[in-house]
Amino acid sequence: MKNLVLIGPPGSGKGTQSNILVEKRGYAHVSTGDLLRSEVAKGTDLGVRIKSVMDNGELVTDELVTELLKENIDLSSKQYIFDGFPRNVHQAEVLDSVILDGVDYVAVFFNVNLERLIERVINRRVSSDGKHIYNLVSNPPKKEGLCDETGLHLIQREDDKEQVVRNRIEVYERETKPMLDFYKEKGLLAEVNADESIESVNRQILNLIN
Ligand code: AMP
Repeated sequence: MKNLVLIGPPGSGKGTQSNILVEKRGYAHVSTGDLLRSEVAKGTDLGVRIKSVMDNGELVTDELVTELLKENIDLSSKQYIFDGFPRNVHQAEVLDSVILDGVDYVAVFFNVNLERLIERVINRRVSSDGKHIYNLVSNPPKKEGLCDETGLHLIQREDDKEQVVRNRIEVYERETKPMLDFYKEKGLLAEVNADESIESVNRQILNLIN
């Protein structure tokens, strides 16, 4: 099984698909957004600084996020899904030549209609531990406001509010999208139509990795 590097704008379904692949295929999932949110939750000085960057929808420094990532993976024993890293060409280079040096992987681009994306993200809710993801329109919980799996309250991430989402999409267009050429040139780029249903996107990914 190859390692997977998921690329796509906020709300394109990377987290949802990661959760399914972890369950179905035994991948380990590493999300730099989740790692940063747990750093923020610790309330340290560093956490406070990270929070203000995240709440504005900007990117945290490459050094910090790369360190955090390296501390939280063990490539010798697991196959990973990288979700939210890399976020720019520099991070893509570091992942390719330092972190995944010589390790097989494929980059999967979640292609979505950007016009419908804002609506997708502002309707996103997550369990208060951040682990389960819902959408009020396309994937609602069975009981309003509560996570089906854990019963925890569903919350809206601060950075899923409309103004911040607009900025995150701009950051994506400017910083993250140029990585597609990087992976295309290496012959490592695959693409899924992420406007389709959760099940269909999952089938598309399974076809790529089988
Ligand atoms: P996510 O959960 O992937 O949507 O990430 C939420 C926020 O965390 C982003 O808007 C950034 O502020 C920050 N973040 C996550 N991953 C990275 C990364 N690889 N580089 C820089 N900032 C990141």
